[in-house]
Amino acid sequence: MSVPHPQPTTPARTPGASLLPELEPLLEQVSKPVQYVGGELNSQVKDWDCGGEHTARWALMYPDAYEVGLPNQGVMILYEVLNEQPDVLAERTYSVWPDMEAAMREQGVPQFTVDGHRAVGDFDVLGLSFSTELGYTNMLTALDLAGIPLHAADRGEQHPLVLAGGHASFNAEPVADFIDAAIVGDGEEAVLHASRIINAWKAAGRPDGREGLLLELARTGGVYVPAFYDVSYLPDGRIQRVAPNRHGVPWRVSKHTVMDLDAWPYPKKPLVPVTESVHERMSVEIFRGCTRGCRFCQAGMITRPVRERSITGVGEMVEQGLKATGLDEVGLLSLSSADHSEIADLTKGLADRYEGTNTGLSLPSTRVDAFNIDLANELTRNGRRSGLTFAPEGGSERLRKVINKMVTEEDLIRTVAAAYAAGWRQVKLYFMCGLPTETDEDVLAIADLAKKVIDTGREVSGRRDIRCTVSIGGFVPKPHTPFQWAAQLGAEETDARLAKLREAVRSDRRYGSAIGFRYHDGQPGIVEGLLSRGDRRLGAVIEQAWRDGGRFDGWNEHFSYDRWMSAAERALADQPVDVAWYTTRERGEHEVLPWDHIDSGLDKEWLWEDWLDALEEREVEDCRWTPCFDCGVCPQMNTEIQIGPTGKKLLPLSVVR
Ligand code: SF4
Repeated sequence: MSVPHPQPTTPARTPGASLLPELEPLLEQVSKPVQYVGGELNSQVKDWDCGGEHTARWALMYPDAYEVGLPNQGVMILYEVLNEQPDVLAERTYSVWPDMEAAMREQGVPQFTVDGHRAVGDFDVLGLSFSTELGYTNMLTALDLAGIPLHAADRGEQHPLVLAGGHASFNAEPVADFIDAAIVGDGEEAVLHASRIINAWKAAGRPDGREGLLLELARTGGVYVPAFYDVSYLPDGRIQRVAPNRHGVPWRVSKHTVMDLDAWPYPKKPLVPVTESVHERMSVEIFRGCTRGCRFCQAGMITRPVRERSITGVGEMVEQGLKATGLDEVGLLSLSSADHSEIADLTKGLADRYEGTNTGLSLPSTRVDAFNIDLANELTRNGRRSGLTFAPEGGSERLRKVINKMVTEEDLIRTVAAAYAAGWRQVKLYFMCGLPTETDEDVLAIADLAKKVIDTGREVSGRRDIRCTVSIGGFVPKPHTPFQWAAQLGAEETDARLAKLREAVRSDRRYGSAIGFRYHDGQPGIVEGLLSRGDRRLGAVIEQAWRDGGRFDGWNEHFSYDRWMSAAERALADQPVDVAWYTTRERGEHEVLPWDHIDSGLDKEWLWEDWLDALEEREVEDCRWTPCFDCGVCPQMNTEIQIGPTGKKLLPLSVVR
C-alpha cells in the first residue's frame, strides 16, 4: 500500500505560537486523544523567548507512541537538564498514531510538541533519541509532518537541526541522509555544550548559516555530522574509506562520558504520564556502564566504564522523586542492577526507610549469579512480589561460554531454588536464538533447563503450581561489540529452530502448562539487523519503506517484513549489495565497518581478539573485580571504573510511614 503524503500547509503564524486551537477539533476524531494534550505532573512550558532572542530551543522526540516514549529516561533527563538553563527551552514530541497523522495531513496541522503545542518546525533543534533502529520510519513521518525536508541536504536556515542520540547513534550511517548531526554517548553535558554553541552562534548573527553552526559542533570532536564525511566503496560493495571533507573535522568522533553520576541527579522531578504507559514507576539509575563483557550486548560495550551512583545519591533521588511524583514504585535501574557494589546496603536501607508504606522496590534487570535471596526478600518486604526475571541468554553451557555469560547451570538452579523456596511461584527466563556457533542442540538445551527449573521448584516448595516462562528473542549482531563481524541467522532458520524447541517443550506432558513459551518470529530481527549494521546506502531503503507506508515498525501489528524486503530490492537494485549481504554475511578482520569512524573507546583489535575468544569458547572476567584486560576505553576516553564501597550511609535513617 502506498500512502499519499500531502504536505501539511503551514498558515502564517507567529513562531512558537500554540497550535491548540487547530489541534482541538482533531482530538475528537482520534483514538487516545489524551496522549496529545500534555500537562503531565512536572512538565513545563517556558516562555518562547525565555532567554531573549538567543534562546536555544529544543524539541525532544522519542520516535514512538506516547505510552512508550514518555517513560524514556534519556528524554526525561535531557528535558530537565535543558529546561534548568535560563536561555534554553525544551519541549517533547512523540510519534502520532496513523489516525492522527491522517487528520493532521487533512487539516494541515504540523508535528507539534505536547508541552506548548508548538510547531516542531519552529525550534532550533529536533533532538531524536533512538534506542532502536525500528524508529527510523517514525522519524521520517515526524519530519514530513513538521514540514522539514527529509534530506539534510535540502534544509535551509529556517529549518531545525535534526540531531540524533541514543544507542542507535553509535552507527548513524543508515540515517545519514536524514539527520544533520548525531551526539554519541551520554547526553547530559553534551546537550548543554551544544546549547552554548547555538546561543553564541545566534548572538553572533548566525555566521556562515547552517553550515557554520554544524562546523562549530563538529569541531568539538564529539558531534558527528555525516555530510562532513565522504564514503567510498570497493567494487564488491564493501567500504573502502571514510574521510572528513572539511578542515578541522576529526577523523573519528568520540563518545561523551559523564564521569560523576552524583553531579547529575536527574530526573529530579520525573514526568508522570496522563494516560497508561509501559512503566508506571519512577526510576533511579544506580549505575551506568557494564564490564561483564557479554559479547552480544551493545549497551554494555558502548557505555563502559562502570560508574556507580553513591548510595547517598540514590537515596536522595528516591526520596525526592517519590515526593515529586506521588508514585509508589521505584525501579533501581542499570544494565545489571544487582551488580552495584553496595546493592545489599542500598536495598536494605531503602526497605527500612519505606517499611510499612506502599512503596515497592524493583530491580528490573538482575543477573542470575548476582541475585541472592536476601536481596529478593528486601525487595519484597513491603508485600509486593512481582515475577523474577533472569537472563541466562544461552541454553547450553557451551553457548554461554561463547557469549561470555559466565553463568553455569548450577548457578541458575541454585538461584531459582532460593527464589521458589522463598515463596516465589513464577520465574521468567530470557534466552536468545541465533547466537554465533549455535546449533539445534544448544537451543533444545533451553527445554531441558526449563524442565530442571520446574523440577527444582516443585521439590523445594513442595507444590505443583510452579511456573517458568521461557522468553526467547532473536539475536541481532550490533556495532561496537565482538559480534559485529558475525553472520546473523536467517529468519527461516530462526523460525525452524524455535519450532523444534517449542515441540520439545510441549511434547513432555509432565510439565503441561508449567512451562510457558514466548518468542518472536525471525523476520523483525532481520530488518533490525539490516538497519543496525547498515551503511549510508540504506537511507534509500528506509525512505522507500516509509513511502510504502512503513510506520511504527517496532509494533507487531504495524510491522511488515514484505514491505521492507520489497523496498530493499528496489532501493538497492543498482548496488552490489542486498539484505543478505548486510545481515547473514560474516565480515572479515580488515573490512572497514560503517561505524569505524565513531569512537566508542573500544579498541578494534581488542574486539577482534574477543571475537576469536568467543569462537574458541574462552571467557573473559569482569574488570570491575579483576585487573584491566585492555579493552581500550579507559585510556582512550580518559575515564576509569568507579565503584564503591563509599562507606556512605543511605540517608539519615528516618522511617517513612
Ligand atoms: S580499559 Fe580496562 S578497566 Fe577500563 S573498561 Fe576496559 S577493561 Fe575495564
